[in-house]
This record gives sequence, C-alpha cells and structure tokens, in this order.
Amino acid sequence: MPSPLAPPRTDPGQPLAPGLKSVHVHKFGGSSLADAAHNQRVAALLDEMDAAASGLQFVVVSAMHGVTDTLIALADASIAGTDWKPAFMALRQRHLDAADVLDSGSAHGLHEWLEARFAALGDTLTAMASGQARSEADIAGVHGLGEVCSARVLQVALGGADAGWGCLDAREVLVANPGELGVTVDWEASQSRLAQWSEREQQCSRGRVITGFIARDGEGANTTLGRNGSDYSAAAFGRLLHANELTIWTDVDGVLSADPRLVPDAVCLDSMSYAEANELSYFGASVLHPRTMAPALQAGLAIRIRNTRNPAAPGTVISLESAAAASPVKGLSLVERMALLELSGAGLIGVPGTAERMFAALHAASVSVTMISQGSSEHSICCVVREAQAAQAREAVASAFADAIEEGLVAGVEVTPGIVILAAVGDGMVGSPGVAARLFDGLAKARVNIRAIAQGASERNISVALDAADAVRGLRAVHSAFWLSPQTLSIGLIGPGKVGRALLGQLSDSLQRLAGEGQRGIDLRLRAIANSRRMSLAPRNLPPQQALEALEAGEALDLDAFAHHVRASHLPHALIVDCSGSDAIADYYPHWLAAGIHVVTPSKHAGSGDLARYQAIRAATRHGGRFGYEATVGAGLPVIVTLRNQLDTGDELTAFEGVLSGTLAWLFNRFDGSVPFSALVREARELGYTEPDPRDDLSGIDVARKLVILAREAGRMLSLEDVEIENLVPPPLQDVPLEEFLARLEELDTPLQARLDDALAGGGALRYLARMDRDGRASVALVVPPAGHASLYTRLTDNLIQFHTRRYTDNPLVVQGPGAGPEVTAAGVFGDVLAIAQALGARL
Ligand code: ADP
Ligand code: ASP
Ligand code: MG
Repeated sequence: MPSPLAPPRTDPGQPLAPGLKSVHVHKFGGSSLADAAHNQRVAALLDEMDAAASGLQFVVVSAMHGVTDTLIALADASIAGTDWKPAFMALRQRHLDAADVLDSGSAHGLHEWLEARFAALGDTLTAMASGQARSEADIAGVHGLGEVCSARVLQVALGGADAGWGCLDAREVLVANPGELGVTVDWEASQSRLAQWSEREQQCSRGRVITGFIARDGEGANTTLGRNGSDYSAAAFGRLLHANELTIWTDVDGVLSADPRLVPDAVCLDSMSYAEANELSYFGASVLHPRTMAPALQAGLAIRIRNTRNPAAPGTVISLESAAAASPVKGLSLVERMALLELSGAGLIGVPGTAERMFAALHAASVSVTMISQGSSEHSICCVVREAQAAQAREAVASAFADAIEEGLVAGVEVTPGIVILAAVGDGMVGSPGVAARLFDGLAKARVNIRAIAQGASERNISVALDAADAVRGLRAVHSAFWLSPQTLSIGLIGPGKVGRALLGQLSDSLQRLAGEGQRGIDLRLRAIANSRRMSLAPRNLPPQQALEALEAGEALDLDAFAHHVRASHLPHALIVDCSGSDAIADYYPHWLAAGIHVVTPSKHAGSGDLARYQAIRAATRHGGRFGYEATVGAGLPVIVTLRNQLDTGDELTAFEGVLSGTLAWLFNRFDGSVPFSALVREARELGYTEPDPRDDLSGIDVARKLVILAREAGRMLSLEDVEIENLVPPPLQDVPLEEFLARLEELDTPLQARLDDALAGGGALRYLARMDRDGRASVALVVPPAGHASLYTRLTDNLIQFHTRRYTDNPLVVQGPGAGPEVTAAGVFGDVLAIAQALGARL
C-alpha cells in the first residue's frame, strides 16, 4: 500500500488513490490544550472522530495556552539580563503537572522526557544570559519549545505509540523562509523533505501529532511562522498531505462577525470565502493566521473552524464561495496600535508622482502601509502605518520631500499616533449600495469621529481610521448597524412581584413572534433583573423563564450599575421596566430618562407623587427617553392613550369621572344588602382582588392617585393634597395593625349599610367615583350616581372612565373594561414597551 506520506501528486484536490485511507488534518490551538484535562478532552474527541471516519488523522498542535508568551518573555529576560528563573520554573512545573496526570504510571516516560527538554532550555537561557546563543535561530528554538512539548503531551494523552499515535516534529518537514510579507512555506523543499521523512518512518495506524508554529528555513535553521502560526502550519500540512479535511479547533463556535471579547452580540458565521477570511484575519481577527487560507485554496481544501468545547456546533466553513448571508458585511475587525501619517500642502496639487514618491520612500524604509486615502483635491495624502514604525515613516517621507518642504510647497509630514483601523469585510459588499452609508450612520449615531476612509477596489473591504479611544464604541455601533434590528431594546426589569412575573410570562410567549419580522422585527432582550436586594446582569440575554432563578443567584443591588448595564453601548436602545411599586425608585427616573433610557412602569408614584419630580420626569422626556405609564390607570385599558389622542389632536379636557378601582368596583357591584359589606371584603381579599391590606383600597388613596395622573396628563398640575378623599375606613380603624383591622372588619358594616339603605330607598345604588369638575375641583367619594349613569352598568372589576371634552360635550367618550389583575396590568406594561418600539420604527 502506498504511504499516505508519499510525494504529493501534482493534482492536489483529487481523491486519494483507491485503498488509501482518507486524511484529516486537525489543528488544536493553545486554548484547547491548556492543561491535562483539556488534553484528555481533545483525545476523547479525536477517538470519537477516528471511530466515525476510520482514516488517518494528523493533529497539528499549538503550545499549551500562554506558553509561547512565557517563552518569548524568558528569551527576552535572559538576553536583557533580568531574572528568568522563577518564570522558567513555573513553566516547567506546569508541564510536569500535566505529565503526572496524563502519564501517572510513567508508562510513556513523559515526565523524564519533559524534564530533559526543560534542562536543555535552562542551558540555552543561561547561555543567552551570558551573551552566547543569541542568533535568530537560537531564539526561535526557545520560542518554539512549547509546541515540541505539547505535541508529545497530546500524543501521550492519546495513548502513545501503542495506541497507533506517532509524533512529527514539523522541523523535519516544513521549510519556510521569511519574506517581505512574513514567512512563506517553500513547497518544493517541504514536499521533498516529507517524502524523505516518510521513507524513513514507520506508518502509524491512527495518525500523528505534529508541532505547529515551528519550521526550518532554507539553511536548516530553526524558525517560526509568527504568532498564531499553527493555523498556517495546519493548512500547510493539509496541502502537503493531500488532506481530505482540515479542521481548526478553537475556543469559539467558529468565525464570528466580530471579536466576541469586544462585541458580546457577535454572531457565528456559517460560511465564508477564502478571500473574506483572508481579509478579516489580515485586518486583525485573531481567530486565524492570515496566511492560513492560501495553502487551503491552492489545495482546494475547505477549512472548518470548530469549537473544542462545543463540538456539536456546526462551525464555520471557509471555501471558495460563501453562502449569501443576511448582512452584506460578513465581519468586522480592528487593527490596533496604528498611526496616521499625513503629507499635505498646496504644492501637491496636480503634481504627478507624489504618491509614488511617498510610498517608494516608505517601502525603502521597510514601513508597511495598511491603508491609504487621498482626497481628489490632492491637497493631502494620508496613510496608516503601524505605530511602532511611525517615527521611521515620518523620517522617510520627510527626507523624500525635503526639497519641497524647504520650498514651502509641502507643509510637512504630520503623524498622529493612537489610531485604530476598523475594517468591514464581506463579498456581499460588491455592488451592493448603501453599505458604506450604514457603516457611517452607525458611527455617527455613536458620535465617533472618522479620521480617514478607504474602500478597496475589490469592494470587499471598507476601512476607516478612528481614534483608539473610540475603537470599541465604534466597533459595537457598526456591529449593531449591520446585525441588529434597529428596534433592539436592552431591557432591565425591577421588582418582579405579581405584575413583573406576569410580564415575564408574556415576554417569554412573544419574543420569537416579535423578532420574526426581519429588520422591522422587535428584538427585546431582557438583560437585567432586580428586586429590592439583589440584581442579576446578563451580558447577552436572560431567558424570561429563567430570570427569577438568575435573580436568586444574583449579586447585591446597585441601581447605578444596573442602569449602566442596561444602557449597553452596543445595543441601540435601553428600557427599564419598574414594577417595584417603590417611591424611592421613581427618584431615579429623571436621570435614567435624561441618559436616554426609556422607562415603563405600572406604579403610580411618579405620575401622582411629588410634583417637582413629575415635572423633572416630563422635562427629561423632552430630549431623552420615553416614559410609559399606561398601566397605572385602568390596568391594560387604553385610558391614557385615549386621553392623549384627544389632546394631541387639539381637543381639550373639561371634566372626567369614573370608576378607577377594580377592587371597589367589585365590592359595590356586589353590595346589594344580601351579604354584609365585611363579608364581601373578606371574599375579595381571598380572591386576590384587594391589596394585602384592604385599607389600601378602601382608603380611596389609590383612586385619588389615578385621578391625579389623569388630571396632570391633561395639563392640570394637581397633587394628592388637592383631592377631596372619602376614606371608607372609619377613623378608629385607620391606624390599627392589619390583624386587628381584619378582626374588626364588621365595624364597617353599620355605616355602609346605612348608606346603601338610603340609596336603595331612592331607587339607586352605590358607586365609588373619581371626579374632576369643569372648575378643576377633584374628589373621590362614595356616591349614588343619577339614574342611567354608565357606572351603574359595569360588571365585576370593570373600570370606567368618561371623558368630557370640547368635542365630546353631549355624550362623553367612554373607556370601559376589566381594570385589575396582574395579567391585564402586565399587558398594559407590555403594550407600553411595544409602543416605544413602534415609535423607534418597528412595524407591528
Ligand atoms: P487558539 O488558541 O485556538 O489558536 P486564538 O486565541 O488564537 O485561539 O483565537 C481564538 C480567539 O480569537 C477567540 O477566542 C476570540 O476571542 C478571538 N477572535 C477575535 N476575532 C474573532 C472573530 N472574528 N471570530 C472568532 N474569534 C475571534
Ligand atoms: N503558540 C504560537 C502562538 O502562541 C502559535 C499558535 O498558537 O498558533 O502564537
Ligand atoms: Mg491561534
């Protein structure tokens, strides 16, 4: 049987010769190999894949997580003459610890093997410290030790040679030379070395673990492929070995629309083209080394990015073509630590060859230019270079234009450090108008200033240079401009009592339906929940049905932190629903509203409490968030909105009256003398129709608050003190403890029975009505309405409001219906939330 490592055929991409096992190249990054447990997980994963595929597996590995950083620091420290020993010992111990778990019986001699590697490393570092062994190759040898160790560690985790697993030090095969654009694999040399190697080596039945990152140069000296180079190693071996599959395993589900550490809402892409992946990685997406795509493309090999921690996720496939996606932009990335270099002057106008001169000078100084932008006036040319090369770049350009500067034709060369490039990448941008507009609009909304703009002729990339301080805000804003519904609301819920709980249920039932309308859809994201003691903040989303559980496990309440979290800069809108019923929380509304956070509440404190606070809330809504409190009057009934509609269309409220308490409505609808009033109160309390202390209903305060809310809405700045209130609780019972009040409830019966007898004698009935007269007099009281009055035809807990306006003079405008209970109240709150979303552009 021919060896799978035979010299490659000239037609890469063709199926392997019959009888030959299929070849799958995997690459595991450092994050997948952090310690012994991670190695065991990877081994289990490979065993599973092996059983399913029965092919040969070549597993390219990075160093254990963070090891390369430490090795680089060790080499630097020894050369600088600082103490490298503690870090060295810790690194050694970390490897030995892994060995002691994975090879506890020392069957593979891993511990000793690693000790020998570290002893040699110690010798090298000592030599470096004393001024020897400091060549590039020596240094590369130190940097690459992590991969040498991790390959052996994983081989042991897989069961070693007995289990059919071998090791391959990539330096035996891979030849790579540094060039202007970084290191490049020498294919011919590598192929012939692979052929020689496979002649020498026994084939392993299951596969080999290969060191990533390291290689030899044309002279045979140690070299590395650059940071994150194991991705490139894997693609190179994929090509050299004529792999049928190439999988890069990492710690995220695939290539995401942006760096998830910066954009919590980044989404995983199903597929992308080599060109897109190339561009994205070139512009800073650290998930892939930018050179990874070329060998895969040459070999016609798709790259699959998958998550070691979530192998069930399909991952991202990178191949020639990518499926059309919802957004024309596939991904966003940031290139940090850049500088803007600007050459300007009137003398540049129309002078041919200026750009050439400038870029030739930069090229000669080995400065790489990441982005170029020139205004058509040619008054200035600017480009973006790495911050570390900025001084070099300025000098090169200044000396190239020394004569022009002297003559005053060129003003000079200006360098601005602290710049980032934000790049938007996607094949779909080609010929799709409006992409740039959306990007700039996103930045403008976040008030991010753009320093320079460039669009590649391929139209696959639009890059903008921003101040580093704006980088993350800009990235998030552009991300939401492309990936989020403009009606995305970040929601915080305070006080999940009865109404809050009902709201959670309604949210959970409706979220999907509301989101299903594409760009018009409403994306409601519950991201925070709090009660009077605790809060729970979720970076992305709290499923409503799990919110109470999360709250139980939450942290101590900090309302400022809560609001700050809800007002996430990466989501377009923020809203706080306050179901706490706490007067103190209403004090926060003006601040929240002023900060642009919308506020919705079923609680009457803000609307009927302190007038100065009410006015501050009104003032804040003029420029800030919206304030929704429809559910404060008539629960889910459209009371405030009806009044508003009249007022906004130029009508004027002259008077109103109505039944504004569901509890009192129920009590007096039932009170016909057949049962004592106290018995009805007890029954209502048991049915949950009253507040826990029924005096809160019977006192009339609650009704008076609603009256104040409606009056203020109509422009009459009443306060509770201005309302005449009839308290149905006799004075001796008003201040006694609840228990005592309940025990003495019968004391209500005699006075109320007398009132009822009077009413019945006149052929009437009792109703507890709120009233505001034409002259502004406001009262809430138990009355006998005149015959035919609408309140006499209400049922159960019905609320009823009659608006007398300039237009509705003879016959009032009436709103009537059930006006109490957590479900209808929550629906009123939900309605306010949706009304705000609608005002933001949602189509319902
Ligand atoms: P590995 O150790 O597997 O090579 P890396 O840390 O090199 O892992 O790359 C994976 C990391 O890259 C992710 O954890 C993520 O934080 C980061 N990253 C940056 N941009 C992106 C992106 N667009 N898509 C996915 N991951 C990204
Ligand atoms: N270990 C190397 C690094 O940290 C290579 C890699 O992980 O891909 O850069
Ligand atoms: Mg990596």
